[in-house]
Amino acid sequence: GEQEISFGIEESLKELAQLADTAGLMVVGSSFQKLVTPNGRTYIGSGKVTEIKDAVHALDVETVIFDDELSAGQLRNLEKAFGGKIRVCDRTALILDIFNQRAATHEAALQVALAQMEYQLPRLTKMWTHLERQAGGQVKGMGEKQIEVDKRILRTQIGVLKKELETVRKHRRQYRNRRVSVPIPVVSLVGYTNAGKSTLLNRLTGANVLAEDRLFATLDPTTRRVQMNNGKEFLLTDTVGFIQKLPTTLVAAFRATLEEISESSLLVHVVDISHPLAQQQIDAVDKVLSELDVAAIPQLMVWNKVDKASDSQKIKIEANNREDVVCVSALTGDGLQDFCDAVQARLKV
Ligand code: GDP
Repeated sequence: GEQEISFGIEESLKELAQLADTAGLMVVGSSFQKLVTPNGRTYIGSGKVTEIKDAVHALDVETVIFDDELSAGQLRNLEKAFGGKIRVCDRTALILDIFNQRAATHEAALQVALAQMEYQLPRLTKMWTHLERQAGGQVKGMGEKQIEVDKRILRTQIGVLKKELETVRKHRRQYRNRRVSVPIPVVSLVGYTNAGKSTLLNRLTGANVLAEDRLFATLDPTTRRVQMNNGKEFLLTDTVGFIQKLPTTLVAAFRATLEEISESSLLVHVVDISHPLAQQQIDAVDKVLSELDVAAIPQLMVWNKVDKASDSQKIKIEANNREDVVCVSALTGDGLQDFCDAVQARLKV
């Protein structure tokens, strides 16, 4: 893929495996190939197709997932090459599946449905050309017409969804405006998926937000009240996590979920410092934040999972430690008082 310079193929495949696990699949193996240009028909080369075909049959595999987006033709050719019963999908479809499973609010459900339809639109050919083949060419041209009809229906549905989404967003904005008039500051948790945002929220509020060792445990912003030492309160909001390789089509669809953070008094950037790519994850989050026009909002960085970080990781972290960093373990409760004090100091309430 094009954005693999900093993360590398193996990291990307590891994240893909985590995504598959999140979607409820059991991963039995992975493989990659370096090509100057992907094969137009099958994305991978013919030798690799055979290799994977043999492996999936030996291991009784049901699904083969590609880390990059595949065209309708590539999906069809690969499914045919692997022998019918094996489902072939790509990273985008997998992430859409997960979003679909996890969409908790009406707005999120609409966003997922919209992204799914936009993904399907250029891939509609598959089913109809398949039927044409089954009919032995007798209905030649019928498939083409049907594709056009289907595309028109899908485009109409996309238009309807977009309108509905706009209405829902307008409502949320009105609701938010009312909430802002209540003098309770809003603190937003941002950060990489699996950094420990839900765990931190649970720890601080006792709220029952789903915490799992899986990607996308949190999809929708969830807000809870937290009481500080001085008796004053703030609202703590959890946001959807970032992943290293989020397809661009999905970035646009889910940006709205992050719109809320522009209303915050403070952004808390939660980092899993035990992660070997902690620095890259920080950079990726910072990049998205810089695109969201939130530069004026103060930030607090939290190094989470200090209980799990190795000594060498800690040394590295201490080396570029900044004064605006608080170290915590959301799991053991270590440093949570420091965290609350740091929030209180920055909110100046
Ligand atoms: P989120 O995606 O940022 O909301 O992350 P979660 O809160 O779901 O946490 C992801 C995983 O990391 C879960 O398995 C948590 O139990 C684990 N976790 C969270 N905080 C800590 C911590 O301080 N130490 C350790 N060892 N694990 C943690």
